[in-house]
Amino acid sequence: MSNRSLADIDRQHLIHPVSSFRGHQAHGPQILASGDGMWLTDIDGKRVLDAFAGLWCVNVGYGQQSIVDVAAEQMRKLPYATGYFHFGSEPAILLAEKLVSLSPEGLDHVYFTLGGSDAVDSVIRYITHYYNAIGKPEKKQFIALEWGYHGSSSTGAGLTALGNFHRGFDLPRPWQHHIASPYPYRHPEGHDDAAVIAHTVSALEAKVAELGADTVAAFCCEPIQGSGGVIVPPRGWLKAIREACDRLGILLMVDEVITGFGRTGPMFACDAEDVSPDFMTLAKGLTSGYSPMGAVLMADHVFQAIADSAPEALPVGHGFTYSGHPVSAAVALEVIRLYEDGLLENGVRTGVCFARHLERIREHPLVGDTRGRGLLGAIELVTDKQTKAGFAADLDVPGKLSKLTWENGVIVRCFSNSVIGFAPALCCTEEEMDQIFARVEQSLDQLL
Ligand code: PLP
Repeated sequence: MSNRSLADIDRQHLIHPVSSFRGHQAHGPQILASGDGMWLTDIDGKRVLDAFAGLWCVNVGYGQQSIVDVAAEQMRKLPYATGYFHFGSEPAILLAEKLVSLSPEGLDHVYFTLGGSDAVDSVIRYITHYYNAIGKPEKKQFIALEWGYHGSSSTGAGLTALGNFHRGFDLPRPWQHHIASPYPYRHPEGHDDAAVIAHTVSALEAKVAELGADTVAAFCCEPIQGSGGVIVPPRGWLKAIREACDRLGILLMVDEVITGFGRTGPMFACDAEDVSPDFMTLAKGLTSGYSPMGAVLMADHVFQAIADSAPEALPVGHGFTYSGHPVSAAVALEVIRLYEDGLLENGVRTGVCFARHLERIREHPLVGDTRGRGLLGAIELVTDKQTKAGFAADLDVPGKLSKLTWENGVIVRCFSNSVIGFAPALCCTEEEMDQIFARVEQSLDQLL
């Protein structure tokens, strides 16, 4: 089949996630054919450096043969096993044990999902069930952050606070609330870490007081906000949030779908602050995109309360056909082995080079701010460094930059608020990092 007709079929039949239907028909698609390490090749043979690990997920890089072997072996042996009722499979059981051993203290129970959105949905359902179980059925309101992203499922998309995910979908729901994000570059006292932290804590306290402490179930946040434009709170922020949730008597869900598995340096972002949430959501780096899978980690006290609340014969009615899929679980175990076998360390090493480049590119006339942690980072573009004024939407800077960077042979993520996001794989070398920034800088020069 010619490449031309493949593109035509795509435009005619394939709905692409988070894209304009008409825009895609006019400009899409870019069809990817193969990958190797940090590199992608499209169907016409063009090679590009993927500085975004697919969709911040291919943390081990493309073409890792040992993962392919493990998946093929598991498919031969047992391609599917339900987790329903009392069935199970060896990879799912071992993966649950592994995740508990890696994650913060107290998160002793694992529920597997297919990705991040259904992990967030599962948390909302479990928290609802938990408060009913402990006799506090009025605690049903959820608070999250502006600029937050928690997936695009029917319920979780309301915790997300990005306009595109609400517009036309009647979201957020009345029990979903948002408070200001810890966004140092856009905060009046952004140079003062303590002030930024205190601001979120007091906003959370005020929101709980406004809603009534007896009605609030939980606060949900990413440790670093990804899709909102890689917003990096000051160190100590997550710990202060954990303490505030305890004081306020509400649960804490930390969404580590992006930040998990070495993306910010340690295995989980929570580790850097010694924080143990009541729920943690994982996906993306869990299988590094080689097979779909997500996970909910649940604190023991929540599990025990739900377990004690009903007779043994009564199931907790939450489950998916592919929960704990043995092929995905086998893939995840191999991916985690690779992280532990040197990839996490390489990510930390290359992260130093990444930070150096972010610092240097700050001098570019279009760059207002750069920020990052580990191998997660961003450049925020402005028209005026003094006033921090952004670009008018009708200039379509993200669209132009996506095109320029692609032409220059690098994939980054250009967000609508003129932020360029980076999330290269942990296998990235310093030479590849140099090339990423050379190509991005060339694109910025062409935008001027
Ligand atoms: N939570 C966060 C923080 C995410 O970044 C994402 C996806 O980007 C999700 C949840 C949703 O995950 P998925 O796309 O696998 O459903």
